[in-house]
Amino acid sequence: MNNFVTDAINLKSYNLSESDKIIVMYSKDKGLIRGVAKGVKKPKSKLGARMDLLVANKLMLYKGKNLDRICQAEALNTFNKTRQDMDKIFYSMYITEVVNNFGIEDDPCSKEVYELLYKGLQKISESESKVEILLAVIKFQLKMMQISGFGIEFETCLCCGNRVKDENMYFSSKLGGILCGHCNENYNLPVMLHYKLRDFLVAMLQFDYDYKSDYDEKANEKVCTVCFELLKDYINGHSSKSFRTTDILQEV
Ligand SMILES: [Zn+2]
Repeated sequence: MNNFVTDAINLKSYNLSESDKIIVMYSKDKGLIRGVAKGVKKPKSKLGARMDLLVANKLMLYKGKNLDRICQAEALNTFNKTRQDMDKIFYSMYITEVVNNFGIEDDPCSKEVYELLYKGLQKISESESKVEILLAVIKFQLKMMQISGFGIEFETCLCCGNRVKDENMYFSSKLGGILCGHCNENYNLPVMLHYKLRDFLVAMLQFDYDYKSDYDEKANEKVCTVCFELLKDYINGHSSKSFRTTDILQEV
């Protein structure tokens, strides 16, 4: 059979011709995939809104020589509470861009990444405040980096290997973790990380989207924004492709 079925989330699209588009998707079974949505730009298209960005579909694709063709799509989730809210749209676009930049074809972790993205989009969609949106994004950033092999070391100094407890430490995006104050005398890293912020990040990595810890309850927008920015810089620094959403975020 030349057809295959998979669940996939639309990340990006390109115009292919007057009526056709190429949709870049992250699929549950095959990681990053591309498919041609034939006739999608015509008003009576069968695929229509299901090919919009930030929609999860159950798809049937026909395997082509160069490009696969999307034959059928059934919407699983349109994350519709996101569509009226600029913050939710931007942060949802951001996490899909992270998946587009770090996801790979035939990804052995595709199921894990798909579920992380799906739940992240859902959590953002259901959020009732900016803090809730940011908590979902921070959890996504930390977990996605760990799955992609870019996990961050937050507990032991990367230089001397000692456990860093309740003392100040320094963060290096380039090294992928923390240095203790003593070792930083040689490195002079400028980014100081308070141990309470570190404890917060460790908790965010451990806890599921739905688990409400004390950290989630006490988090405020300032703390969340600092963490989001720190992780955003880390992710930018380790991505082979450049980011567009974060430039837009800065302009808003
Ligand atoms: Zn050290």
